Amino acid sequence: MMQKKLSTTDHSRDIAGLKYVYPVLSRRAGGLSIGINFNTNNACNWRCVYCQVPDLVRGAAPVMDFQLLEDELRFFLDNVLNGNFFDQFNVPEQQRVIKDIAISGNGEPTSLKGFARAVQLVGQLGKEFKVLPSSHFVLISNGSLMHQAEVQQGLKILNDYQGQVWFKLDSATESGRQKINDTRQSNKKTLENLNLSADLCETRIQTCVLDFLSDAERASEKTAYLELLREMQQNAVKVRKIMLYTVARHSLQPEAERIRKTGAEEMDLLASLLLEIGYHVECSY
Ligand code: SF4
Repeated sequence: MMQKKLSTTDHSRDIAGLKYVYPVLSRRAGGLSIGINFNTNNACNWRCVYCQVPDLVRGAAPVMDFQLLEDELRFFLDNVLNGNFFDQFNVPEQQRVIKDIAISGNGEPTSLKGFARAVQLVGQLGKEFKVLPSSHFVLISNGSLMHQAEVQQGLKILNDYQGQVWFKLDSATESGRQKINDTRQSNKKTLENLNLSADLCETRIQTCVLDFLSDAERASEKTAYLELLREMQQNAVKVRKIMLYTVARHSLQPEAERIRKTGAEEMDLLASLLLEIGYHVECSY
C-alpha cells in the first residue's frame, strides 16, 4: 500500500479502507479524531447548503452491521495504539494523540435504527482500549430527532461515557432554517430538542456562520439568534458553550457558488456578543 500523509484537509472517509471508521487528523483538535460514520449511504434528513457530503440524499442511515462496526473499531484502535498507524500516515510526533471519538457521519447519525446500541458499542470499546474517558466522546447531530425514545436512550448512554452532543443551530428563525438547512423544523421543535438533549447529556451548540443570505436577512438572523440564546440563558437551558465555525471547505450542494466564508472580524464580534450574554465561545475560522 502506498504511504499517504493525512493532511488537515484530508477528511476522506475511506482513507483507512474501512466502512464505518475513519481517521481525521485535525489541526484544530491537535491530534487524531476517530470518526464513526453510520450514514454510509450519504443520507440525511436535512440538506444544509454548505454540506460537504458527496451525493447527499434525503433519508436515514442504513441497517447497521454491528459485528462489522465492532471489528473495525477494534482493528482501528489496536492499529493506532499498538500498531503502526501514525508511522504509516507520517503523523507528526506532537499530533500522535487520540483527541476524540466522534460519531459524525455522512448524514444524521441519530437516524440509525439501533442508535443507542451503536453508541453503547462505541463507548464500550473506547473504554476497553482506555481511550475513553480521557479522550472526548462526541456526537455531532442536527438535533432534529431528539424527540425519539431511541435517540434519548443513546444520549443517556453517551452521558454515561461522559460524552457530549454538538447540536447544530445555524438559525433561530423558521425562514433561515428553511434556507440554510432546507428543513421546515419549527422554532418550538428546535428549542424542545435542544432542551431534551441538554437535559440528557452535556450539549454544546455548533453554529455555522456563513455568508449566504442577503445583508438584510443576515442582520435579522443575527438579532434572532442572539435573542434566542439570551432567552435560553434566562430560562436556564443547560447549554453553556457555543462553537462558531465557518465554511472551510467547498460545499457539494448546488448553492456552493453563492456561499462565502465569514471573516474573522465578524466571527469575533458575534463571539463577543455571546460572551456578554454569558456563554463560553470557541471560534474556528
Ligand atoms: S445536517 Fe450535516 S449531514 Fe445533514 S445536510 Fe446538514 S451538514 Fe449535511
